[in-house]
Amino acid sequence: MKVVIFISMFFYISLFSHTLVNDYYRIDQLDDIYGYDVIGYDVYLNLTDTTSNYVSGVSTISLITKTELDSFVVDLVDELECLDIKVKDGESTLSYSSISREDDRVFITMDQLVSPNKELILEISYEGESPTGSYFNRAFDITTHNGATIIYTLSAPQGARYWFPCKDIPSDKAIVSFTMKIWNHHQSFANGILVSDISIDQNFKEQRWVSNYKTATYLMAIAVSNYKMFTIDYNSDISGKSFPVECYVYPEKLEQAGKDYSEIVDMLDCFENYYGEYPFSNEKYGMANFPWGGGMENQTASHIGASVVTGTGSGSDLIAHELAHQWMGDNLTASTWNDIWLTEGGATFSEAIWNEYKSGEYGYRSTMDSFENGAKNHNDNLWGFEDTYNRFVYDRGAWSYHMLRYYIGIKKSDEIFFSTLRELYKDPSYREGSITTDQFLEFFHLKTGVDLTQFGEDWIYGSSYPKYEISYNLSNGSSLSELEVVVNQTNSEAGLFRTPIPFVVQFSDFTDSLIYLEPKDYNNVYSFEFNKRLHNNLSIENFNFGNKILCNKSLNPGSVIEIDNDLSSVYPNPFNPVTNIKYSLSKRSDVNIKVFNRLGETVFEISKKDMPIGDHFEIFDGSFLSSGVYFYSISTKGGSMNGKMILIK
Ligand SMILES: [Zn+2]
Repeated sequence: MKVVIFISMFFYISLFSHTLVNDYYRIDQLDDIYGYDVIGYDVYLNLTDTTSNYVSGVSTISLITKTELDSFVVDLVDELECLDIKVKDGESTLSYSSISREDDRVFITMDQLVSPNKELILEISYEGESPTGSYFNRAFDITTHNGATIIYTLSAPQGARYWFPCKDIPSDKAIVSFTMKIWNHHQSFANGILVSDISIDQNFKEQRWVSNYKTATYLMAIAVSNYKMFTIDYNSDISGKSFPVECYVYPEKLEQAGKDYSEIVDMLDCFENYYGEYPFSNEKYGMANFPWGGGMENQTASHIGASVVTGTGSGSDLIAHELAHQWMGDNLTASTWNDIWLTEGGATFSEAIWNEYKSGEYGYRSTMDSFENGAKNHNDNLWGFEDTYNRFVYDRGAWSYHMLRYYIGIKKSDEIFFSTLRELYKDPSYREGSITTDQFLEFFHLKTGVDLTQFGEDWIYGSSYPKYEISYNLSNGSSLSELEVVVNQTNSEAGLFRTPIPFVVQFSDFTDSLIYLEPKDYNNVYSFEFNKRLHNNLSIENFNFGNKILCNKSLNPGSVIEIDNDLSSVYPNPFNPVTNIKYSLSKRSDVNIKVFNRLGETVFEISKKDMPIGDHFEIFDGSFLSSGVYFYSISTKGGSMNGKMILIK
């Protein structure tokens, strides 16, 4: 089925119309159809014909079989023609009976069964016009900037097959090298390190890039243009290592890039501080301009949209986003496209982390707040959202990290949230690997002891968010204040959300108390006693204090009764049915005493003339009333005193 939908791109990009075959982008969730693991790609690309989107090359795929295979499946768009295919077993070549092409795949049917655990090399020569039709329209594009050629790739999510034969799923990561034949006046850029630069003749040269870090195919990338390159050295306080940040920029952007990229050292300090050592410090971090309004976090080799580079720092969050991906998405990759929130949510959350690093709590809070509307934009669940790179995945994903930080923070500590992330990124099972949502939550569970089953159901596997209607009753006294808070989740159709709601109470002595309201049901009543007076009436800001939980909230006007415990009292209290209302006067005064119920209706009233200085009491008989909470007020010339009394029959 083909549908035309609107998508938003990686970051701050205007919407554009795009044809997307949804099913296609969900098809490769399982590794099973391939039956082999890729060890490495060695790709040769001839990029000298820049007049159209023509590409020719040789993809050499080193692999190991996992099961007995009668055929090999390789991903390659149908528009790219296979010129020659060899299946090599050491020095010998295995024969195959047929090659067929279907659904952007190559099927190589072998003459004989291939046994498991066999190391082989697939060598595929290919050429053709790389077509449009990838998720972001063009996965391989040759165009111009300022009159100069720019060749670039954008392999996410399944676009690597648009420019070289590969096993195009995110969970099978492999080392990669690209050897590019290009014009002498061009400069190439790719994953890893530039290891050789050889002149072929007066027109052409060959540049070879090698990365020995395992890389997902959607994070493999090249770019070729008339780049100017400058290097910023990074010396890590965390690891003691040094590596270069290589900046490949359009000549016309050189000055602006010099300004905008100067923050990169602080950004690396920031993310190393929160997430641990930069994962690819044996090689580099690179950024190359490409003709886009956003960025793409290719491993060790981000593409940064030229329009983002302004010299004003306006692209700061985007540059931080792509850098953070090196930890979240590149080093540790989402195993399937259903888990992409781990990647995009993590990098979007990292924008808030970067702003926290720069400007503290305010920077963090304001950045997270800016993602709130997007996080509420769909009523669907985050895991497996049908449109992989929809802005919703970014914003709700970021909020899921934000809420996980909060939840681990209140159960353990904020530091444990970050130390667990650091452990995850260097864990031998996950480093340079991939992870599912279940594995991610289970890792946190194992390391912190905090069960995240309900958390996952609330925010990742479940849809929507809670809508809370809040009301309260307060009897506010100088030595005893009693507060009853009613929290109703009104959208029961979304299921019960159980994540505790942070609630702050401020007192008249300018201290405060942070309380976590744990929803047990759709309707919850919480009762509190404090030994001092609350500062003010409660406001909506007291609930979900600090905007920690994705929710809507509304507050009904509360009933507040001011009680003076020091100048008046009731004894006995509770009472049945008779009690004494005591008060003291510091000067002669007329006195009016009222008793009223919770609704504010007066049930008893008495007035006394010209009462003398000293202690007094009034007997109150509640035999005509039903059990419950009542309040009294004593009005004098000097003011009024209030109190609470409980009749229990
Ligand atoms: Zn991203």
